[in-house]
Amino acid sequence: MTAERIVVAGTGVAGLRAAERLRELGFGGELVMVNGEPHRPYHRPALSKQLITGELAPADLQLRSYLPLEATWRDSVSGLRVDTASHVLELPGSEYLRYDGLVIATGVHARQMPGAPAHNPRVHVLRTLDDAFAMHRTLAADASPVAVIGSGFTACEVAATARELGREVTIVSRSKTLLGRAVGSAIGERVTRLHRENGVALVTGAEVVQWLSQPFGVTMLLSNGQALTAGCVIVAIGGAPTVGWLRGGNLYLKDGVLCWPTCHVVGASDAVAAGDVAAWPNHRFDTRPRRVEHWLNAVEMGRAAAESLLAGPARARPFEPVPRFWSEQFGVRIQAAGMPSLGQYTVDLQNDGTSSVTGYLAGHRLVGVLSWDNPSAMVGWEAELERQLSAEPAPPAANPRPNGVPSHDPNVALVRPPSPNAIGPGFPKEHDDSTRNGMPTRL
Ligand SMILES: Cc1cc2nc3c(=O)[nH]c(=O)nc-3n(C[C@H](O)[C@H](O)[C@H](O)COP(=O)(O)OP(=O)(O)OC[C@H]3O[C@@H](n4cnc5c(N)ncnc54)[C@H](O)[C@@H]3O)c2cc1C
Repeated sequence: MTAERIVVAGTGVAGLRAAERLRELGFGGELVMVNGEPHRPYHRPALSKQLITGELAPADLQLRSYLPLEATWRDSVSGLRVDTASHVLELPGSEYLRYDGLVIATGVHARQMPGAPAHNPRVHVLRTLDDAFAMHRTLAADASPVAVIGSGFTACEVAATARELGREVTIVSRSKTLLGRAVGSAIGERVTRLHRENGVALVTGAEVVQWLSQPFGVTMLLSNGQALTAGCVIVAIGGAPTVGWLRGGNLYLKDGVLCWPTCHVVGASDAVAAGDVAAWPNHRFDTRPRRVEHWLNAVEMGRAAAESLLAGPARARPFEPVPRFWSEQFGVRIQAAGMPSLGQYTVDLQNDGTSSVTGYLAGHRLVGVLSWDNPSAMVGWEAELERQLSAEPAPPAANPRPNGVPSHDPNVALVRPPSPNAIGPGFPKEHDDSTRNGMPTRL
């Protein structure tokens, strides 16, 4: 690609690492970083952990670029609309920015809960540094109880951190176990026990049906008839891909921006997408496009998307990572690799009662591993997973023609599925069906 101006829309870690890779590969044209936030890129995972405890200050969170980007930064400026036919990004103030290449990396935004008093200063979501500052202010104002609504990673981490600060914490969750959707019911139950043992009150199988803002806090009436009052409420019910600004174009936006295996955006051959916002088929697993909301994936996909943009659709390589993520709660480090959510059942790969490694299987195929406070064992199991998931050779044309995508369903299989891998040596061949954990086959 001979590009004169590449625009990076969204400068979280995916956008930053994409820009860096463009320069590494020798892109010498103009680089414009359209940064929707007032802050330069920062380490988002610390927002629910070390930033709340005060272990890290905002300055510690800043991400550095590994080489001079020599970019034009447009801070606090959000892309409003993109015209993929004329290659123009519209910015506020009727500014029209022509691009030769576009990186879409606008991530996700926190979901708001219908009916929740979002403007009450005691009620928070947690996605950005400004959200974290606001939450910090409320927590510091008094020592009143904290309520966390949700059962995903952010909910669990923020509950654990508030508890470690000595606060009375209640989690209200619709599901019976914490994290169950992401890691399956067996590990989900373990996470639930961990929170209970550390003094978190759990109201499971319930939701907030009514909110009442009071001078001293927020009272929530729950579906089980219980009333709960808290001085700080964190609504942590997940994120939605930030694609509103892309509507009206020629793109597929059902759950994120639909991409070809190479990260090229379906409907625009001079645009790529990366990070939490991008849905693409990872052929290591199957052909269904999915989004992956993990830090390391955003790093790797940002770099891969930049390579693809410069190579062009015909020469680009498919992005086929083994996704990895981690979480920390009450001093327990949970690390995972692969796609545990695709597992139909689990097996113990290692377990000494305290730390463990769990394997997730779909049929006889290992699709994920998760370690519970066992980083050293995880290294070996990650390598084993990678070996077992080694992908088929890429199809001759990395990206089938865009007009092959039916307009009614963007969740199409983009190329044929890989054949299942056999279980490798050292991996249990017999599976006890009693370990079946009822986990959905996809998130
Ligand atoms: C509290 C918290 C804790 C987390 N902890 C972990 C963890 O422990 N482990 C892990 O693996 N992952 C964790 N994650 C997930 C991880 O942070 C994300 O996967 C990662 O940040 C995704 O990076 P991204 O660049 O794709 O998107 P983002 O980081 O969301 O960046 C997107 C950027 O685009 C901007 N933007 C949006 N719209 C526009 C627009 N129209 N124009 C310009 N800019 C725009 C946004 O403001 C934002 O700055 C955590 C996330 C949160 C919120």
